[in-house]
Amino acid sequence: MTAPPLANLINELTKLPGVGGKSASRLAYFILKKSDAEAEALAAAILDVKRLIFRCSVCNNMTDVEPCGICGDSRRDRGVICVVEEAFNVVTIESTREFRGTYHVLLGALSPLRGVGPDEIDIGGLLRRIRAGGIRELIIATNPNVEGEATALYIAQQLRTTEIKVTRLAFGLPVGGDLEYADQVTMTKALQGRREL
Ligand SMILES: [Zn+2]
Repeated sequence: MTAPPLANLINELTKLPGVGGKSASRLAYFILKKSDAEAEALAAAILDVKRLIFRCSVCNNMTDVEPCGICGDSRRDRGVICVVEEAFNVVTIESTREFRGTYHVLLGALSPLRGVGPDEIDIGGLLRRIRAGGIRELIIATNPNVEGEATALYIAQQLRTTEIKVTRLAFGLPVGGDLEYADQVTMTKALQGRREL
C-alpha cells in the first residue's frame, strides 16, 4: 500500500492536464527525493501564482501588474489587437517576436453544442475596446477548429460595418489543430500570411 501522504500527492498530480497515473507516480517519487528546500520552492511557486497572478483588466492576460506588461508598454502598437482564446496562447505568439500589437484574451470560444454563447466569453470587452477607438486591425488567432472558426466569423460579423480590418491567421496546422501546439516557425508564418476575413 502507498503511504497516504504519498498517495495524496499522486492523486493531486493526476488532476494536471496530460498527467496519467504512471507519470504522477514518477513525479511524486521524484519530488520525494528532492531536498526540503527544492520541494518548498516548488510548493511556494504554486502558491505564488495563485496569490500574485490575476487577469489584466484591459486584455484578460495573466499578469502581476495592472495593466499587464503588454498593455502598459508604450512601444506596442495599440492599433492592432490579436484575439486569442486563452492566456497561454499569448505566450505562443509572443515567442515569434513577430507581433508588436496588443492582445485580447476571450477566455474561451463560441460553442453552441456546449452552450457557450457570445455572453459566456469576453467578446463584450473586446467590442468595448474597439468602440473606444484607435483600432485599425484585429488579428483573430482563435484555434483552427469548429469553435475557433465560429468565434472568428462571429467577431468579423460584428465589425462588418466598421473600417477595421479583420484578419485570420493562415494556419499551416491541420484543421482541428490547436494553437497550443504551433511551433515558432509555424506561428510566424501564420502571422505573416494572415488573410482578411
Ligand atoms: Zn493587458
